[in-house]
Amino acid sequence: MVKHTSSSFTDTGVVLDKQGDWALIRRLSVYIRPFQTLLMGAAFFLGVSLFLDLIRPLLLKQTIDRVIPSHDIGVLVQLSSFYLATILVGCVTLFIQNYLLALFGQKVIYDIRNTVFTKIISRTLQVFTKIPIGNLVTSVTNDIESLRTLYTDVLLKLISSSLLILGMLVSMYFLNVTLALVVTALLPLMGGTILVYQKYARRAFRGVRTKLAASNTSVQEMLNLILLIKSYLAERLIERKYEKISQEFLDAGLFEVKTFAIFRPIVDSLFFVATIAILWSTNIFSSVTDAGTVFAFLQYMNKLFQPLKDIAEKYNSLQSSLAGAERLLPIINEPTIEKIEADTIPQAWLPLREIRFDHVWFSYDNSETYALKDISFTLKAGTYTGIVGPSGSGKSTLLGLLMGTYRPNKGHIYINDCDLANYPATVIRNVMSYVFQDSYLFKGTILDNITLYDTAISLDQVVAAAKQAHLHELIEKLPKGYQTEVGYLGSLLSGGQRQLLSMARMFLRKRPVLLFDEATASIDSHTESLIQESLRDLRQSATIISIAHRLSTVRDANLLLMIYKGQLCEAGTYDELWAHKGLFRNFVEGKLNEEG
Ligand code: ATP
Repeated sequence: MVKHTSSSFTDTGVVLDKQGDWALIRRLSVYIRPFQTLLMGAAFFLGVSLFLDLIRPLLLKQTIDRVIPSHDIGVLVQLSSFYLATILVGCVTLFIQNYLLALFGQKVIYDIRNTVFTKIISRTLQVFTKIPIGNLVTSVTNDIESLRTLYTDVLLKLISSSLLILGMLVSMYFLNVTLALVVTALLPLMGGTILVYQKYARRAFRGVRTKLAASNTSVQEMLNLILLIKSYLAERLIERKYEKISQEFLDAGLFEVKTFAIFRPIVDSLFFVATIAILWSTNIFSSVTDAGTVFAFLQYMNKLFQPLKDIAEKYNSLQSSLAGAERLLPIINEPTIEKIEADTIPQAWLPLREIRFDHVWFSYDNSETYALKDISFTLKAGTYTGIVGPSGSGKSTLLGLLMGTYRPNKGHIYINDCDLANYPATVIRNVMSYVFQDSYLFKGTILDNITLYDTAISLDQVVAAAKQAHLHELIEKLPKGYQTEVGYLGSLLSGGQRQLLSMARMFLRKRPVLLFDEATASIDSHTESLIQESLRDLRQSATIISIAHRLSTVRDANLLLMIYKGQLCEAGTYDELWAHKGLFRNFVEGKLNEEG
């Protein structure tokens, strides 16, 4: 058992909770408690199964010793009925045991899976920016699965196999001490061979699994990038890359085949070695007198291999399950960082008068490299503000700070006179709606995507929002209207339609501050004008802050903030900034270079 005591990040960005094996098992037992009745039921039937497994060879010994010399049919009928009964009861017991165990495992994992999901979704957005999401998903799904096998299979198999071996040894010593000593002496040889076999088998399994994962990733990547591959006529290049991966997959498969081809016969032949040892011992040691005892011993020997193999195999599974638990426990034990229920808007924020940045500095890595430097400005309620500046200047960061996703390293952000530092992000987001540059859509219907699955929202409200976003007419023309599926990642809608849908989502919430990150992807001029019309309608009722990638969209904004290299360089109306002939004008005329 490996002893660890520290927590650390893996290269996948997942935190590990390194502990000794038993400490981990103890901590996992918390999740067993609510369902321990099921587990105890399974353990009871397991005990019955073990007992039946142990008495069967004894019944055969009785049959050989008593029936063969006397040909007593009455005893034969009695013993064979008893033997049959142990088999029938054994079948029923095994069924109940497996059923209870599977039910127990599924229920425990159901709880763990939901807990993990809730913990992840309640993490702050800032945490997500630091973790490769894909890796987290893979790790969480695989780890939960390996934890399921720990509960349904591994732990009980380890215990039952150990008990079975112990029970068989006790029975053997009970039957004949000399032969039992011979078997005990053979155990290290059998156990050792099986361990070596398991080591190679594990290496072979692992190799195949790794190559399978590589092959899957390659296929997934090819499908995701099919448009790119086709347009660059790169099929042959990608095929060649896949051929290499496929060849490695084949090699791993062949190694697995070879391992089994060599070791299986060796492991199986051990049984024959043990059989010969018992037969020889029978002749050498005069203490063995009856054939029934020898037969019972051979039966036990035959049965001894399976639990030995199971222990070696399940010990490996135990290690992989515990490795999974090391990754899952930190997530499960995380404090719930953000409350999922929406908070109410503080009284002091309403009616909204202004939003003020006061000498705000922000660095993503808490270093002296600031993404935003000394930003100060005030926005009046009900105005339309455009944020402009070249790529990477800090526009999205500014909106992230306003939404509470990030917190300033220095300076303050105020709503009316309330410092946002004193409020959780959930409260801040309650006054703001955000339309992202990329329109994120779930794989559901248009209705689901506008309501975000909130069944409390009526269809009338959705229709009103869609009308406001100039999307209603388009939806009406679709065969299934609001029930039309948008497809994976919204693939059935055009880029412009996805933006309009995001806007309908925003309108539905009727929040006083609207943050708008204009889509950089080209949107046709008709959709563009629809978006602008919607925003114009809103200017009466909301405070709008928009990152403008197309300057035409902020031509009539009340205020433009020109951000350059993390600094607020110029602020004013479009005409004022144009007349100023500074950075903004250079930017508009495409003359803004790195030196400004
Ligand atoms: P664009 O117009 O291309 O969207 P932007 O003006 O919105 O750019 P930001 O995304 O705010 O620019 O980025 C500002 C700076 O912060 C850039 O140097 C960028 O590399 C850096 N940055 C952005 N997000 C992160 C992050 N999550 N971690 C570290 N640095 C980041």
